[in-house]
Amino acid sequence: MKHTLLQRFQKVVERIEALPTPKKPVLLAVSKKHSADSVRSLFEAGQRCFGESYAQEAVEKMSQLSDLDVVWHFIGPIQSNKTKIIASHFDWVQSVDRLKILQRLDRQRPADSQPIQLLLQLKVGNEDSKSGASVEDILIMYEAAKCLSHVEVRGLMCIPPPSQDFHQQCRYFDEAFQLFQKINKTDAKFDVLSMGMSADMEAAAASGSTMVRIGTDIFGARV
Ligand SMILES: *Cc1c(COP(=O)(O)O)cnc(C)c1O
Repeated sequence: MKHTLLQRFQKVVERIEALPTPKKPVLLAVSKKHSADSVRSLFEAGQRCFGESYAQEAVEKMSQLSDLDVVWHFIGPIQSNKTKIIASHFDWVQSVDRLKILQRLDRQRPADSQPIQLLLQLKVGNEDSKSGASVEDILIMYEAAKCLSHVEVRGLMCIPPPSQDFHQQCRYFDEAFQLFQKINKTDAKFDVLSMGMSADMEAAAASGSTMVRIGTDIFGARV
């Protein structure tokens, strides 16, 4: 079993290395619904950044892995009553889609911690997309965060509607790339564009992704 996990992981690492882009995206290993032991095996194999979608599940995993220097990213939908636990346990939050959530994360970040690193989740693909904020709301959150001292907005994340077609995938990702580039030109710290999952990593990389979030192709199917 462990052998299989490491082989899958190695294949994903090789897929990233083989991408025809000059700068390879960072790999976020999405460990939701998978065990702390699996995370530990991948950490031993060199992986540092892990993504989780459920706050309670993640915190239990973290307590079993407190001896490791994992960088934890929260990537799931955020309910207001979960912001406190997220603000106190995670290094990054990629799924910020409302001003209220941004403000709560700022307020609830423990004072002795580094500012929490945030990505704003952009809605791409219009009505086909279930989650994310409009361009207008992204810009409002981006401006508002400049006045907050416990959060740092570092870029964008998006989850396009599923598509099998490479060119359609690229069209969705390009929506995010355009906005990312516009802000990045004037703000060098806005430097992360998180897009691409197991099924569309190649299109995301071709469209300017700096971070891919891979679950299934590393850990196998979630049960
Ligand atoms: C689950 C999840 C992933 C990983 O998806 P796979 O298709 O399993 O690679 C990536 N991003 C987000 C936001 C997720 O919720």
